[in-house]
Amino acid sequence: MARISMRSVTKYFDGGDTVANDAIDLEVDDGEFLVLLGPSGCGKTTALRLVAGLERPSEGEVYFGDRNVTDSSPSDRNVAMVFQNYALYPHMTVRENIEYPLKIRDVPPEERDERIAETTELLHIEDLVDKKPEELSGGQRQRTSLARAIVREPAVFLLDEPLSNLDAKLRMEMRTELKRLQEELDVTTVYVTHNQEEAMSMGDRIAVMNGGTIRQVAEPEELYTRPKTEWVARFIGSPPMNLVEGTRRNGTVELADGNSVPVDVDGDPGPVSLGVRPEDLSVTADSSDDGRAIRGTVTMVEPLGEFTIVTVDAGGSSIRAKVPTTAIERGDDVHVTFEANDAYLYDESGNLLGEHA
Ligand code: ADP
Ligand code: MG
Repeated sequence: MARISMRSVTKYFDGGDTVANDAIDLEVDDGEFLVLLGPSGCGKTTALRLVAGLERPSEGEVYFGDRNVTDSSPSDRNVAMVFQNYALYPHMTVRENIEYPLKIRDVPPEERDERIAETTELLHIEDLVDKKPEELSGGQRQRTSLARAIVREPAVFLLDEPLSNLDAKLRMEMRTELKRLQEELDVTTVYVTHNQEEAMSMGDRIAVMNGGTIRQVAEPEELYTRPKTEWVARFIGSPPMNLVEGTRRNGTVELADGNSVPVDVDGDPGPVSLGVRPEDLSVTADSSDDGRAIRGTVTMVEPLGEFTIVTVDAGGSSIRAKVPTTAIERGDDVHVTFEANDAYLYDESGNLLGEHA
């Protein structure tokens, strides 16, 4: 097992024109399941390849425990990597695929048999060992590639969007399974995904990436309740947090359209973005003006079974609320309300103001 640390790691491509990773500092604890989450192209795969030793940093260092592995080859690092596209050898059976990494490391045959039996049992693929990859379903192939990765007991387990090619139902199943597997093996894991649900449900901690940098590293709950920047606030949550520009005065924010709403964050007067999550908003047809609501007109009602998304135009700002079934209809004039302590305020640079609980 190992603790991973990336220290000011920068990676340029194209002679410096592309900065894929920009001064990344990241610590992954021994046995931790860390998720790298971010949109496509933000540098997740590059970061993972730098940890694996498949890329060399342009600047900075990578440590496994106290050992500087910056210049070590992948085989010296004892890492196992699993990709989205399985990469199984088509001419080999499941068993041969899993055996291969042991064979090339000269593990004696009896030990190989033992480890293959253990691993296939762990992944519930004991009955598939004689099949070829082409005879397997997508889920079975991914289990096989996971088995091949863990059979040699790596110090570090690296997964790059391993569930992306599976259908929704299977993805859910494999999520639970992978999490169980990682806990059982207790191996330091970095898991790359652009899927926030996957990240939230699996990660001990999540590192949110954008534009080659890490924007916030936190436990899932904290990422949701205390996004440190406007960017993270918009990225985590579905539908995303509403953010409306306004001016803060004592205990209230005045919005551009003249609406004034209460907030629970102290500080100097000035321009702010007011953030409220759709699930923290209520929409009422009540038209009495108590000065504590955003007034607007409903532009869309989307019933989604479990809940309904109501979109309200408030003086040019579009606000989305996630509410239980509602009698409200398009064209209705409504009040949008929320508790003062559910409001987030971000300054002009997009940084969270105050200590949001
Ligand atoms: P992600 O996995 O988050 O989608 P990547 O790490 O693959 O992002 O890519 C980050 C950026 O680096 C992208 O702009 C990508 O085009 C660029 N990049 C990645 N690998 C290479 C490479 N080998 N050569 C040139 N550019 C690359
Ligand atoms: Mg990628």
